[in-house]
Amino acid sequence: MKNTTRVNHPPAVALSADNRPLVAPIYQSVKFSFDDTDQTLRYQRGEREGFFYSRTSNPTLTQLQRLLSELQGRDDCLLTGSGVATIAASLLALCKAGDHVLVFVESYGPTRYIVQHLLAKFGVTHTMLSIEDKPGIERILKDKPTRLVIFESPTNPITKIADIEHLTLHALAAGCLTVLDNTFAGFHNHGDYDIDVYLHSLTKYASGHGDVMGGAIIARGEILNAMRKEIGPMGAALDPHAAFLIQRGMRTYFLRYERQCANALDVSEFLQQHPRVLRVHYPGLPSHPQHALARRQMKDFGTVVSLDLDGGYDEGGRFAESLELFSIAASVGSTESLVMPPQLLHGGTYTAEQRAQSMVGKGTVRLSVGLEDVGDLKADLAQALDRAFK
Ligand SMILES: *Cc1c(COP(=O)(O)O)cnc(C)c1O
Repeated sequence: MKNTTRVNHPPAVALSADNRPLVAPIYQSVKFSFDDTDQTLRYQRGEREGFFYSRTSNPTLTQLQRLLSELQGRDDCLLTGSGVATIAASLLALCKAGDHVLVFVESYGPTRYIVQHLLAKFGVTHTMLSIEDKPGIERILKDKPTRLVIFESPTNPITKIADIEHLTLHALAAGCLTVLDNTFAGFHNHGDYDIDVYLHSLTKYASGHGDVMGGAIIARGEILNAMRKEIGPMGAALDPHAAFLIQRGMRTYFLRYERQCANALDVSEFLQQHPRVLRVHYPGLPSHPQHALARRQMKDFGTVVSLDLDGGYDEGGRFAESLELFSIAASVGSTESLVMPPQLLHGGTYTAEQRAQSMVGKGTVRLSVGLEDVGDLKADLAQALDRAFK
């Protein structure tokens, strides 16, 4: 064998079954081979286990799928290259021309865009309500045949809490599927509710370190198998190396989430008593209008805290820029604290009525609270508030 051949057929090391690595390897291989054509055909007919092509399945991904579906309390999971890919792929897979979808003013921006523009191109209509409009939700689900409702809780950035029991009750009665983007609440929340499809951005709490993107769709096997048929050919598969990093992130998921929630509550209590802060939006505060609902529905209250400053863009911008431990950046759920000033939150494509319902004002600032010492975070917030209003 010449060296040019050898480098393309390198030595392979296989471990025996009684000799295991503690951390599973990354199967950074696009292709998997069987011994012969017959076994390959058996695999393709679903008569044997195995792997063939990583766009369809890969052991590193399968491992993460099993972990995440177990945590969310369902039996199947499909991974995609980003959180938004799970939203686009799920909606395209579940809807067809003539269907109607219920979506909310408070939904994640790209979700609203996908429903309003992408689905509309394929003849799917929608109704957009406020997540607080319970009579409206009941009316639409009763009067209008609706394929699915897609929602979030807590919402971004105001942390409104969807009444999941109310939504699922009326959706179920109407034969309407429920799709919950559970990114903010995490895998350990909302699993007990009668939700058909959970979506997660793994870019946030799962990865936790802000260095990798991914998304997960989690559902009962029968729903997910049907979705997999449609989503597979869209080709937005997660890379095995990204899956490995996300799996590593998951080892500290509970520790990070718990500590970041504790920091977020402490920060909210601090901000709430500051004279320049009109209102703090955090479901863990007894002053949050849906605190009781949040307590019933969630094990903890998340790590996103928003506040309405007694000012506008100028004060909000100065506040964000004066912070030293909170970086001005998108996303949430990383170990480091982040801030979004009002200029970056308040724009968008709302009508005047929808803008009022969104409750995002010219003095609204969003914080994603990280793992830093909470005394340092509060001192930083205090000095930035002083500078913002000087
Ligand atoms: C960030 C986010 C997404 C999108 O996730 P990406 O991984 O950034 O594509 C979807 N839904 C919610 C609620 C998010 O916060």
